[in-house]
Amino acid sequence: MYCRNFGGQGDLLERVDCNLCGSTQQTPVYEMPDTRFFPDETFTVVECSNCGLGFVNPRPSFAEMAKYYPRAYYQAQPTHDFKKYLTKRFEAEARYLREIEDRGGSRKLLDVGCWNGDFPRFMKARGWEVEGVEVSDASEPITDFTVYNQEFQDIPADEPTYDAVTAWAVLEHVHDPMAYFRKASRVIKKDGQFVFLVTNFNSMVSRHLFGEDIPRHLYFFTRETVRQYLDKAGMTLEYEDNGRSIYKMAPANWLTYLVQTRLRGKPFTCKDVPLSSRDFRRAHGLSKGVGASLKYAAYSPSSVMERLLMPAVETAQSLRKNYGISTYVARKV
Ligand SMILES: [Zn+2]
Repeated sequence: MYCRNFGGQGDLLERVDCNLCGSTQQTPVYEMPDTRFFPDETFTVVECSNCGLGFVNPRPSFAEMAKYYPRAYYQAQPTHDFKKYLTKRFEAEARYLREIEDRGGSRKLLDVGCWNGDFPRFMKARGWEVEGVEVSDASEPITDFTVYNQEFQDIPADEPTYDAVTAWAVLEHVHDPMAYFRKASRVIKKDGQFVFLVTNFNSMVSRHLFGEDIPRHLYFFTRETVRQYLDKAGMTLEYEDNGRSIYKMAPANWLTYLVQTRLRGKPFTCKDVPLSSRDFRRAHGLSKGVGASLKYAAYSPSSVMERLLMPAVETAQSLRKNYGISTYVARKV
């Protein structure tokens, strides 16, 4: 991959060619700051003119990336509600592995990006042999199964030994997705499955509403670019599930965006994104309540209207496959 250091923002940015097709031709799509941790740092998302892959360019180098994952990023909320949410999420994720369970043969899973190991542990309880990969340190050491604490492409396993590899919200974070696709293809048995969830660059929230977690999200995929990655790695796409059953990525500000671009005919930039109701209350020293809600409604009337319509909009987007989250099921051929 061609990289060079990029002057400017800390001198620690690198400019890269397309990870999927190698093209050097790109078109800027939007600019936005790291809204979570470094609001003074702005990044550009580009789209490859040849294949349509979206990516942050220039981007923080691999060594520099740790800075954008401070401890606060990993803090889990070990509350009862959080556990309930996780169980529901894992049940939704496990549904994608039912075909292998129904075969009745071996079932060995490698979960890439397993964090504290909760998903592999959930699958172990369903009778799977499990292993994990995680680059960050778990909050508790994982002792009940093997976890490779390194980048997926570097793990010692290199033979087709797994019936399934899963990667939930991982590929958009890595510096070299192609290496992940190729490694998955090497370690999955013939007819085994690669199941992964990524954000959807064909969605309004990813493409127009500044909903991506930048620069922690470095790559933005569509069904077409996913299909090309899989082809190059020796896997075939079985299907795409677009929706909110595992992770939600609501198209917040869709109405504000439409009013700005369609009615007023103006571009919608990250500066046009209204404060969330929580940030609005914080900025004005208000506590939650009717008074704060009314003040927020006066500040951003379309936010209130869009909240009412949001469930219907999310359903419509899922049906049209342009919701913000897609799960893909691929097969090793
Ligand atoms: Zn490309």
